Amino acid sequence: MKIGGVLKFSTLDYPGKLSAIVFCQGCPNRCIYCHNPDFLDTTAAGNVDLQDFLEFLETRIEKLEAIVFSGGEPLLQPDLPEVMKTVKKFGFLIGLHTSGVVPDMLQDVLNIIDWVGFDIKTSFQNYHKVTRLPSSGILAEKSLNKLLSANVNFEVRTTLDLRNIEEQDLYEVAKFLKNKGIKKWVLQECILRNNDGNFKIPLPDQRVLSNIAQYISIEIRRE
Ligand code: SF4
Repeated sequence: MKIGGVLKFSTLDYPGKLSAIVFCQGCPNRCIYCHNPDFLDTTAAGNVDLQDFLEFLETRIEKLEAIVFSGGEPLLQPDLPEVMKTVKKFGFLIGLHTSGVVPDMLQDVLNIIDWVGFDIKTSFQNYHKVTRLPSSGILAEKSLNKLLSANVNFEVRTTLDLRNIEEQDLYEVAKFLKNKGIKKWVLQECILRNNDGNFKIPLPDQRVLSNIAQYISIEIRRE
């Protein structure tokens, strides 16, 4: 596993649990708002040795409750199932943050993981407008269907980059989620970071949020 970095403590990344985050190196998507650009290069070696990471985790047994695999895109790592199994043997819950871009690997880890934070970028036919990867919508839909067939807790969330997501996309996602029986959709404020500081993309207006709420319960998440 190529590890770009480790966050040794978080209260936010696994619901209700104290966790550490491992940022896997490499992602095929290129979302314009990505907060982890250093972890996108799939050819980069990574900055943290896997053995060092596992030794760190041994010191956290009974201090942390969960380890979250994030990135980059964890599903790109060929040894993800083996590493997750090793981490699970330490007694940690296993979390996964994913865009679902490798459905077969998601299938391989569904019987190991305890919770998934699944990013839905926009309506599946318009995924490329956010990810800049042509096939990403088809792959994400496939992964989401696999996730829904499994007995795993999950959250679906969308970062509201309204420069690339139209009102109609939001309604389509809301209808899709409702039809799949999903009860809640987390809508995350989009923050752009550059050398001039942080810039917030305005949220949809109340009319749009009310329309979405006719299909599905929403939680607005601000940073
Ligand atoms: S899927 Fe996530 S890690 Fe990959 S480019 Fe998009 S925001 Fe960044």
